[in-house]
Amino acid sequence: MSLRKNIYKTPAELRLMVSPGRATAASLAAVKSAIRAGVTTLELDAIAEATIRALGAAPNFMKEPGYRHTICTSVNDDIVHGIPGARVLEPGDIVSIDSGAELAGWNGDAAITVVVPDPSRPSLVAERQKLSDVTEQSLWRGIASLASATHLNHIGGEMEDYIDSQGSYGILEDYVGHGIGRSMHEDPPVFNYRVRDRGPRVKPGLVVAIEPMVTAGGIDTFTREDEWTVATVDGTMAAHWEHSVAVHAGGIWVLTAEDGGAAGLAALGVVPVPIP
Ligand code: MG
Repeated sequence: MSLRKNIYKTPAELRLMVSPGRATAASLAAVKSAIRAGVTTLELDAIAEATIRALGAAPNFMKEPGYRHTICTSVNDDIVHGIPGARVLEPGDIVSIDSGAELAGWNGDAAITVVVPDPSRPSLVAERQKLSDVTEQSLWRGIASLASATHLNHIGGEMEDYIDSQGSYGILEDYVGHGIGRSMHEDPPVFNYRVRDRGPRVKPGLVVAIEPMVTAGGIDTFTREDEWTVATVDGTMAAHWEHSVAVHAGGIWVLTAEDGGAAGLAALGVVPVPIP
């Protein structure tokens, strides 16, 4: 694809993306600590919204035409874009939470997956936790490879190879990551799998939301009757992890991690560098 507009942010613009990234991270930390059997997905949405607003930011998913919530809550075979509501989380559920915040016109976007404890079904919980862990680790590998890649699409091959090495999983192709900045969704697309095109150069100013969506089965999806929720056709479980990551002159920084990604990248030999 040819990119007509400049996808690279200035150093001053990168600095403006730190606060919305932190607000996004804080909302997910608050939701994570509230996830338990018996909570509704709408209660989680309220927690995320309150956290973002308390930091002087605003939920940015509400800017999507027709979407009225702060987060997306995708449970079990729902993959992404699930709408918060009266659904009560049950023991053993695998739930993906996608959140985003805007501050001073700049955006953050991130997602986590959590398995609700179920002491009566340890093997089911272990299986779903591994699906989440493989997805999260593929994200960290993609982020780590961004630190040394010359072209963006290199990271998709790294993610695919890691996921394939871990078992029989499906990497969604109907949905991919994206650039992020003044808009939540910008060029370029960020593939979670190997593609022929090398993609744009990785250089200071590139900011991307990397978001692997992985299933325990096939990659075919459909949209439910609510016209938002994307689910697996084969009914297998799904996980979704996402971070917004900035490339700057000194290195990379994970905008939506409280520690810039230090913990997640430690085992991969990459040390994130704060945006100056
Ligand atoms: Mg995203």
